[in-house]
Amino acid sequence: MTLYLRDARYIDSESLVVSATHLAVEEGASGGVHLLDIIPAAGERKAGDRVLDCKGRFVTRSFACGHHHIYSALCRGMPAPPKVPNNFVEVLRYVWWRVDKRLDKDMIEASALTAALQMARRGVTFCIDHHASPIHVEGSLETIANGFEQCSIVHLLCHESSDRNGAEYAQKSLAEHDAYLASGRHGLIGLHASFTVGDELLEKSVALARKYDTGLHIHVAEDLADEVHCEETYNKRVARRLADIGGLESERTILGHCLHCNDEERSLIAGSPVWVVSNVESNQNNNVGLTDYDWLQNVMLGTDGMHNDMLRSAKAHQLCCATTGGIGYDEVYRRFRNVHNYLSQFEGIGDDLNNLVILDYDSPTELNSDNFLGHFLFGIEAIHVETVIAKGRVIVEDRRSTLVDEEAILAYGREQGLRLWEKLGV
Ligand SMILES: [Zn+2]
Repeated sequence: MTLYLRDARYIDSESLVVSATHLAVEEGASGGVHLLDIIPAAGERKAGDRVLDCKGRFVTRSFACGHHHIYSALCRGMPAPPKVPNNFVEVLRYVWWRVDKRLDKDMIEASALTAALQMARRGVTFCIDHHASPIHVEGSLETIANGFEQCSIVHLLCHESSDRNGAEYAQKSLAEHDAYLASGRHGLIGLHASFTVGDELLEKSVALARKYDTGLHIHVAEDLADEVHCEETYNKRVARRLADIGGLESERTILGHCLHCNDEERSLIAGSPVWVVSNVESNQNNNVGLTDYDWLQNVMLGTDGMHNDMLRSAKAHQLCCATTGGIGYDEVYRRFRNVHNYLSQFEGIGDDLNNLVILDYDSPTELNSDNFLGHFLFGIEAIHVETVIAKGRVIVEDRRSTLVDEEAILAYGREQGLRLWEKLGV
């Protein structure tokens, strides 16, 4: 089936050329987009084809998130932690490690559904998620996958393996990856961070990644404490530790943050095929520092569980990096779109050009190929996302999901959120 978009102003996401045109959008995991002079007459179209009138609105490629934690979706408004954290490790100890241990299947399902719904409405059609539920492990990835798919969000998932809850749960996490990937799903091998992952778990994770020809997904040097622990425990820096054990060999590997890497580590990472994700709002929220990544090509953007809005992540990245690092609008946009280059390694995964947003962008100034980046960083926001097309199908129309009962999902989220908050008090 083909979706025809009448009277669009199509912004090519690579060349930034703006064309007043009609579009034919192919359906399927690998479909493309074709510019048309004329939309075929009703008698020439196939059964099931649809024509959507864009009325001159802007249309461009939809967005993808390079690093998310949807397990935090029910935390908005939760009770304050028992102690105000003083540093990053205390943030983990008093906030996130108390939350993740209390998640059960229903809470994970509600987290996946509410996050997926919110991503869809913000034009984010692909999510690379890093999931933590150390006690409820078995089947957790399939639960998230199902929740995402109900809202038509394509995904690359992993479970956060760590030794911080003991060997039994580390083993369960490895087994969860093994079962999920053996079922034919695409995914990564998730690890928390060097300072909670011993050598045995790290080696087994690298072996599992090799078995399924995939990569690791791990936080690296998010806080200086990660580096200090590594030097004290292994007498080396984090990236060196990863490299020595085979953790920097795959172009599918994703390192989160890399804020405190020294020059040797930067050379190691930049000289390897791995990818790094920047999450500046999270970094500021945790007061762990910032870097401008001027040493790296393979950098993309994420939300780190802060929210579901990649346009917001791009604007925050610009505010943090452009003024201090001499990074232009074009480099911010390149990083924003780099996730598609990363995902292109996974053939047929569902991140092709037939994922689109129709923007009701009422700009008071001219938008053209030459000044699009100014509009991208200072004008276009999630509120302008009116219609979203995923794999050639309309999944959001007039800012509402066409696939799910939004009220029911939000009610389920509130119900499961209250259950989680009650357990946090115990
Ligand atoms: Zn993270």
